[in-house]
Amino acid sequence: MSDLSKSVEPDNDVYKALLESTRAIPWKIDWNTMQFAYIGPQIEALLGWEPSSWVSVNDWAERMHPDDQKWVVDFCVTQSKSGTDHEADYRALTKDGNYVWIRDVVHVARDEKGEVEALIGFMFDISERKQTEQKLLDLQKELEELSFKDGLTGVSNRRMLDSVLEQEWVRARREQQALSVLLVDIDFFKQYNDFYGHIQGDDCLKQVAQVLADAATRSRDFFARFGGEEFVMVLPETDADAAQKVAERCQQLIFKQQILHEQSEVSQILTISIGSGTIVPTHKDELRDFLDTIDRALYQAKQTGRNRIKAA
Ligand code: GH3
Ligand code: MG
Ligand code: MG
Repeated sequence: MSDLSKSVEPDNDVYKALLESTRAIPWKIDWNTMQFAYIGPQIEALLGWEPSSWVSVNDWAERMHPDDQKWVVDFCVTQSKSGTDHEADYRALTKDGNYVWIRDVVHVARDEKGEVEALIGFMFDISERKQTEQKLLDLQKELEELSFKDGLTGVSNRRMLDSVLEQEWVRARREQQALSVLLVDIDFFKQYNDFYGHIQGDDCLKQVAQVLADAATRSRDFFARFGGEEFVMVLPETDADAAQKVAERCQQLIFKQQILHEQSEVSQILTISIGSGTIVPTHKDELRDFLDTIDRALYQAKQTGRNRIKAA
């Protein structure tokens, strides 16, 4: 009867055959000399460089996309020195001058005393995965363009606004109801970006959008990012007095946030200017002309000192 508990130790040939038949490419670098002790022959099929041409760690570093080189080498050296297993994705240079996306997975091997002895790793060809990732990113961008939501703030975007405005315009004309529109623009936002940086500028835009989105409360009231640091509020069945109240509420809500804006020339905190317009449209009126008058009102608000509301 055979002894089933007896383990079978594969010899070196078996290990070698296994290592060299996988799609992952094994390698080993001696820590003291920084020379390759071994690299799987599969490397030649993938990158074109013969195994014998991988002599030192410099050959590895030099056969890398210039944009990846610095951070990958710095990262791997730091991790290795601290004895941490790690992995890095980078573009490896092929012998004919192209690049292949590689994931290098590195194990830091130590001797009995715990000193780093060697780096042992596997290189994986991840070009297909990278291509899929890129395709997904492209698709996401395309979807964003097709969608009705602003990518940064999450509120409705210009596309949605155009369609809502058109709808409400036609309805106001048919039902002979007052339609009000507010155009909101942040004061001295260029200075805000210049002083606090674009990232904080983006955060500020998100905050402003969230706050203003709650300023109007009736079910058909509609709020959108018009573009840049400009927002629009569409207020159906709303006369000029009521629109003025909503505009004032917008200003108060922003004031309550107390967003620091040291470079603003009107205040130490962030303020907005608002142009407003109200119309009961007839067949002689054009939506575009109505919006132009509001734009001019906003311009007036800016010209006369900012942090104010101007009715068209
Ligand atoms: P004003 O008081 O006259 O409105 O001055 P302003 O600086 O706010 O106006 P301007 O239209 O000259 O500048 C708007 C600035 O808004 C330009 C740009 O730096 C910033 N901006 C536009 N879109 C974005 C964005 O998506 N993110 C960030 N962070 N800033 C943006
Ligand atoms: Mg502007
Ligand atoms: Mg502005």
